[in-house]
Amino acid sequence: MERKGSILLERYELGKLLGQGNFAKVYYARDIKTGQNVAIKVIDKDKTLKAGLNEQIKREISVMKLVKHQNVLQLYEVMATKSKIYIVLEYAKGGELFNKVARGRLKEDIARWIFQQLISAMDVCHRGGVYHRDLKLENLLIDEDGGLKVSDFGLSALADSRQQDGLLHTMCGTPAYVAPEVINRRGYDGAKADIWSCGVILYVLLAGHLPFQDTNLIEMYKKITRADYRCPNWFPPEVRRLLLKILDPNPNTRITISKIMENSWFKKGLGTRPAKLPKLEIKETKLPEVKTFSEFSRPSNLNAFDIISLSSGLDLSGLFVGDDRRDDVRFTSLQPASAIVSKLEEVAANMKLKVTKKDGGFLKLVGSKGRKEEVGIDMDIFEVTPSFHVVEMKRSNGNAIDYQKLKDDMQPALKDIVWAWQGDSQQ
Ligand code: AMP
Repeated sequence: MERKGSILLERYELGKLLGQGNFAKVYYARDIKTGQNVAIKVIDKDKTLKAGLNEQIKREISVMKLVKHQNVLQLYEVMATKSKIYIVLEYAKGGELFNKVARGRLKEDIARWIFQQLISAMDVCHRGGVYHRDLKLENLLIDEDGGLKVSDFGLSALADSRQQDGLLHTMCGTPAYVAPEVINRRGYDGAKADIWSCGVILYVLLAGHLPFQDTNLIEMYKKITRADYRCPNWFPPEVRRLLLKILDPNPNTRITISKIMENSWFKKGLGTRPAKLPKLEIKETKLPEVKTFSEFSRPSNLNAFDIISLSSGLDLSGLFVGDDRRDDVRFTSLQPASAIVSKLEEVAANMKLKVTKKDGGFLKLVGSKGRKEEVGIDMDIFEVTPSFHVVEMKRSNGNAIDYQKLKDDMQPALKDIVWAWQGDSQQ
């Protein structure tokens, strides 16, 4: 147990609890030798091991070590005992930006200043091949002077974990901030997805509420895929135009970081802190027609882990809005991707189907034996966490009757790797 006043690893005097994450507690602490203020993230090894999160923590550590930027929360050192991991971090005295915005929207020049810092941090991260993938207000901390510190790289992926097609295949991030292609498509470009989240953040800072919100997760996803949002009347025209370019549902036409940096609204007062700082100026906001942030009780809390903790038989159809052909099926699996791929190959061989394409988490199965025309099935494996996957099965060619028959034969054969078929409440 960590107690206030206790000395940790003969070096840090522990202070108050600053916050709590999924598997960690964060404490304020002081380096006894240097007097430096730090934040210490204490992670329980047992809990994370059970949840299969060790890889994620290692990733967080390696990513945070990689990036050095004044707006990225710095990692000083990592220490471990038998049961705990201690991550010593730069202390962000102002805490979460979320708490500030929950009290009301920010003034335009303050919002722009935060956004400038965020874009500058992302520029450096992306150049280094690091993508955050879970950018949201709760991951933006503020230092003593109101300066931005981007934290929580827990879900970020390094460029070398990309699949052969150069796209990420992990379904993660936080629904309200997640880009449409992360929800809908096969793979996505981490940089483009981060830019979308930056757009959501800019909107939130200026509006005091989320651009895409709905009590129904599926409806929220639909709004995201259509980029269906409205700007409050106080949004300046330049901001509306910029948001239109950032919140572009098509990642190929979405604005890039370098173009954002050339934008005239973005460039205003660049590098100079607004006069009203260090105190963050909060504007009162009255929004009778939409829920404000504070009322919304952290809607963005549903992340990949919550998806797992939802009951089995979970209907994931809404996670793939826009791709809803009737003969598509999906199942969840608690097996690692490699085991899923092996099983799919084995079942395919037994059913006289050939694997004609294999690309990371994607398999194309084709078979014509005993049929008039060739049937093609695409199997797409999406990673939620390393030990939780969603597999999507689609007809790519051939007639529906042959496909249906193959599907019916395949379903029982896959039982060893299936946790739940989509819409199957019996599981
Ligand atoms: P995390 O597990 O990183 O999500 O951290 C949980 C909470 O602890 C955050 O939401 C913050 O409120 C607080 N926190 C985390 N890191 C720091 C830090 N470096 N400085 C100040 N507060 C922090």
